[in-house]
Amino acid sequence: MEKRTLPEKIDLIQWANNSAIFKGLVDLNDFERLCESLHKSDELAEGKRVVSVDLTFKRSRVGVPTVYAVVKGQLPVTCERCLEAFELEVDSQFEAVVDGIDETLIDEDIEFGETDDEGQFLLKSLIEDELLLNLPVAPKHDSECIEKDALSHGEIDESEADNQVPKGFEALADLKAKLKGSE
Ligand SMILES: [Zn+2]
Repeated sequence: MEKRTLPEKIDLIQWANNSAIFKGLVDLNDFERLCESLHKSDELAEGKRVVSVDLTFKRSRVGVPTVYAVVKGQLPVTCERCLEAFELEVDSQFEAVVDGIDETLIDEDIEFGETDDEGQFLLKSLIEDELLLNLPVAPKHDSECIEKDALSHGEIDESEADNQVPKGFEALADLKAKLKGSE
């Protein structure tokens, strides 16, 4: 797949009428908001990090201009536990229409894209929002990337530390996150 630049905005009606297709590898550095949440590595700076974006534009069965999107790739994120980078797999499929469309004409799980003052559909922002939605609030390696001993502070005896309520809550939160991650 070739590297391409995702248009900032498009005329969704025209693209749908033309059954337009956008296929390409989009540089993650093009997404400024997203980059703020990603791991700042040299590789990212060199622009080697990309996501594949596959978009089909057409009118839905009832004639609503729609974009059918498949976004895939690996996002470099920072593990909250060990602060090392790891790659978060993203594989997202969704459909989107212009915000404000008659809700009786669309499926329940459809997404809405914003438009600017001139009615132009903000395409890049739609894809960026989708990638942001895929980012966990606190990304963590699936495996125990840090030894338990390294987590507890030197002065506190481990058995004592285990009795402290906040530790328990933390462990529970970790467990929940892990369970969620393995679904
Ligand atoms: Zn880690």
